[in-house]
Amino acid sequence: MFKGKTALVTGSTSGIGLAIATAYARNGAHVVLNGFGDPAEVEKTRAKLAADHGVTVHYDGADLMKADAVGAMMKRALEAFGTVDILVNNAGIQFIAPVEEFPPAKWDAIIALNLTASFHTIRLAVPGMKAKGWGRIINIASAHALVASPFKSAYVAAKHGIAGLTKTVALEVAEQGITMNAIAPGYTWTPLLEKQIPENAKLRGISEEQLINDVFLHAQPTRKFVQVGELAALAVFLASDAAASITGTIIPMDGGWTAH
Ligand code: NAD
Repeated sequence: MFKGKTALVTGSTSGIGLAIATAYARNGAHVVLNGFGDPAEVEKTRAKLAADHGVTVHYDGADLMKADAVGAMMKRALEAFGTVDILVNNAGIQFIAPVEEFPPAKWDAIIALNLTASFHTIRLAVPGMKAKGWGRIINIASAHALVASPFKSAYVAAKHGIAGLTKTVALEVAEQGITMNAIAPGYTWTPLLEKQIPENAKLRGISEEQLINDVFLHAQPTRKFVQVGELAALAVFLASDAAASITGTIIPMDGGWTAH
């Protein structure tokens, strides 16, 4: 489906991003992986993706909290592949604390990675997309782009911000064959979710099991975690020609959470 196209997926050494990058490679796209991880493991993933699907796969370890590093990563990708046809802004972190105890440095880090990095990748990818008259930008937002939960002030602010960025740029590029959408996942079992469990349970004064059943799964009427493969399938659809008229949307995949 994406033969000859290049997909850059930020934060794709793990979780949702890795599932999306794998799905694009499976559908014929060359892929730029990004994110942190054990170098040997990352290289194994890169080489396997390339060998399994007969596509070129690059790994770029840029730290996207730094604007200069985002610029350098985009420059390397554009030099290697000509354009980034499909851009997925997925890298993200979480930190939870009551607002009066929220460390300012954590606020800055979350805004830098979960919001500002996407501004930089988008502004640097759009000229090449315009020149080709085709492009797909998909931002992995969150149900927290639509609703809030306590103790996640920076994350919820960044995710609401990405929803606004999605709508704005979609309007700017709508006549140029470029679409821009956000996917808003509900609770999805990945390292990001797993890592927050002990602190989140402590802050709420409940057990970890209660957090999983009475908070996470209670939010989702399906009573199930979203699967990374489901999110990847939606990302493939949004990048397909069949989705050419879908733009400027925030699409929940949250087991019914935001229907409440
Ligand atoms: P994850 O922790 O499994 O993956 C995060 C990825 O981002 C990793 O590849 C990591 O190396 C990378 N990363 C972290 N800091 C980085 C940095 N400074 N520069 C570059 N890369 C960096 O998390 P995930 O759950 O797969 O989350 C992916 C996205 O989905 C995030 O934006 C997250 O907010 C969003 N999301 C997750 C859930 C969930 O329940 N897991 C729900 C809604 C939205």
